[in-house]
Amino acid sequence: MTRFKSARALLALFGLVAAMAAAQAQGAARLPNVTILATGGTIAGSGATSTTTVGYTAATVGVEALIKAVPELQKVAHVSGEQVFQIASENMGNDNWLALAKRINVLLAKPEVDGIVITHGTDTIEETAYFLNLVVKSRKPVVVVGAMRPSTAISADGPINLYNAVITAGSQEAVGKGVLVVMNDQINAAREVTKTNTTTTDTFKSPELGMLGYIVDNQPHFYRASTRKHTSDTEFDISKLDALPQVDIAYAYANVGPTVVNALVGAGARGLVHAGVGDGSLPAKVRPALSAAREKGVIVVRASRVGQGVLARNGEANDDQLDFVVADTLNPQKARILLMLALTKTNSTREIQRMFYTY
Ligand code: ASP
Repeated sequence: MTRFKSARALLALFGLVAAMAAAQAQGAARLPNVTILATGGTIAGSGATSTTTVGYTAATVGVEALIKAVPELQKVAHVSGEQVFQIASENMGNDNWLALAKRINVLLAKPEVDGIVITHGTDTIEETAYFLNLVVKSRKPVVVVGAMRPSTAISADGPINLYNAVITAGSQEAVGKGVLVVMNDQINAAREVTKTNTTTTDTFKSPELGMLGYIVDNQPHFYRASTRKHTSDTEFDISKLDALPQVDIAYAYANVGPTVVNALVGAGARGLVHAGVGDGSLPAKVRPALSAAREKGVIVVRASRVGQGVLARNGEANDDQLDFVVADTLNPQKARILLMLALTKTNSTREIQRMFYTY
């Protein structure tokens, strides 16, 4: 009887081991499902000749052609494509962002979708990536990718960038890392990445704070993560929004006057980002205009045109007294995005300052 029982137990154990091995083999063979949302840009651009790398037309090639141009994608993921827009990214607007984010949230809520890639023009890629980083409600990977050379150029960078983006979007390593920008074999976080060169393929950097990792040998390798809250951990919900509050940027320079600030307030801005010189200093001719804007209820955020470093609160201006907010390390174009979303929740400068130190 005992012998019979132990034989049965042994058989059950063999069965379990075999089932585990089969499941493991199946898991290893299962390719992730990655949806590519195409929005246009140079990655979908075409030039007159193979040596045309400037003066080409952005946003001419459709998503199916982009996918077809990289047959290697089929080996690393089940890819499907959707043409969401077909625009150059200098024309990206708040409406586009809301539509894109809503579509991503619908797709990522489906259990069968493992990750999303967004093909995008590079001029505003960092803005779209940061917007999505604040409003996508999922820990699944979302990767934004572009190209500096049109699809028709010699050594076009689009195909390899797209391939690397799909690998990253289908990877476990990218889960929970926030929205990523993958270009030039490098992975950058949406919050920190910025375009640093007008034309070269190594343009995307995260100045001083550093990139997150590399794509090497068909795999993403992460070395760090952004510490700020993102995606499913933010308080922003765009599901019921069909517009965003008007927030504009006023750029500072030697000899700047109050004209732009006054014009923007007159045009109905609810928020203003002062892209100040240095540590966001307030020129004597601009300060009264910004202060008057604040008195009218406009939220003023001091940022810097420098592109690196912390904007120190109560440093170059008495923010407590002026009731201004500081942008921390966000560049002016990203400060604008956070301020727009902040204004969908509150008008309190104390709360908005908290958000700038949180995201
Ligand atoms: N102007 C183009 C765009 O942003 C540039 C690019 O994609 O590289 O759409």
